[in-house]
Amino acid sequence: MIIRNVTVIDGTGGTPRAGMDVLVTDGRFTDIRPSRTDTSAVPTGEPVLDGRGGWLLPGLWEAHTHLRDYGMSLPAPERFAHLKEVLAGYLAEGVTSVCDLGGMPELSPELRDASRADAAMASLFTTEAAFTGIDGWPVTGLVGHRSGVMEVGDADHARRLLQGVRLGEVDYVKCMFDSRPGGGRRLPPEALEVIIAAAHQAGKKALVHIATGTDLREAVRAGADCIEHSPLPRDPHDLSEAEQLAALMAEAGTLYCPTVATWEQLAYGADPEYLDQLIADGILTPDGAEEIMARPTYGRPFPKHPADECRIRFDHAMRTLPVFHRAGVTLVAGSDIARVMPTPARALLRELQLFARAGVPNSAVIAAATGHAAEKIGRLRTRGTITVGSVADAVLLDADPLADLSHLVHRRHLRAVVSSGRIASP
Ligand SMILES: [Zn+2]
Repeated sequence: MIIRNVTVIDGTGGTPRAGMDVLVTDGRFTDIRPSRTDTSAVPTGEPVLDGRGGWLLPGLWEAHTHLRDYGMSLPAPERFAHLKEVLAGYLAEGVTSVCDLGGMPELSPELRDASRADAAMASLFTTEAAFTGIDGWPVTGLVGHRSGVMEVGDADHARRLLQGVRLGEVDYVKCMFDSRPGGGRRLPPEALEVIIAAAHQAGKKALVHIATGTDLREAVRAGADCIEHSPLPRDPHDLSEAEQLAALMAEAGTLYCPTVATWEQLAYGADPEYLDQLIADGILTPDGAEEIMARPTYGRPFPKHPADECRIRFDHAMRTLPVFHRAGVTLVAGSDIARVMPTPARALLRELQLFARAGVPNSAVIAAATGHAAEKIGRLRTRGTITVGSVADAVLLDADPLADLSHLVHRRHLRAVVSSGRIASP
């Protein structure tokens, strides 16, 4: 396939290149070259996507979500079909890759394989290697069952458990390292170190969920590759803790996936004004708002995350995002939940909107949802960018997302979605 006459935003954060043709062979980008007006350069029968001067960027990544939240009440075969529809829905909105951060081990491998074999679905990345402390987050109270996360007592226990895990077959390793009161015991730091070392030995990234600045600091010291969630601040009025954490992460090269859309939903989701705000921001339609209010979960408190605490966490995360960006920390976009969102993909788009609103430059916002997301799970060489050799996942927009990020968020600007070298939508 050839994608003609586009400005390429390649997802590496580099300068966009106008007037380009992008060639795709066997599902991968094979050439990016100045556009040729003569059609003789195109072999007969080659599919052509006429970019008409639009903007081509890598397919978006949802770098932190949980598919366990969808179709929970359905019997297994119907649930599997439903989850495939969820992945097709992501793709229709320009999200070509989805990272499930655990909690659904019974369906993950099969769904992952199905998604990778079918260009009509977003590609799924998953793990069955998820660890927490004894009775630790999220075992107690969140999902109502204990499956999907291994509870670790100490470093030796971690070593024994790791013997039963085929790390070569997972996409990454997830650790819960959460010291909030009421969340059970935190994974001991020595055990965290053992798990991260084993992940690295198997060539996998270690993604570490944290709750506080202390958790974050210890996770970075233990070798975490990416910090999941913004920390609950020691003092919401003080930026110095965030400055210190940002410096530590920049020095260690640790990525940061703050999941601000989650804190916003948990803080404000029950307020009708929040839905009005989402409508004003183009995330939601009035019909969509009615559908959300009819959901059984609407307005119900989320286990272990009181709204007032999430307000502090959200406000502080928004104030400090530019602190992390300026310090040189690589930001990654992941929304975690879509409780108050019309579709799962909209939660990711909200995350991007919030990054921009917090003051992160648009080029860094786009990189957070493309190249940096692929980097988070160790796939940067083969995915997440428009570079030769990378998997040909892309979105074509009719307006410049670098000039105004709403061109990426508002669906009316989405002209086409390319998935593994095929035009998937419209
Ligand atoms: Zn999560």
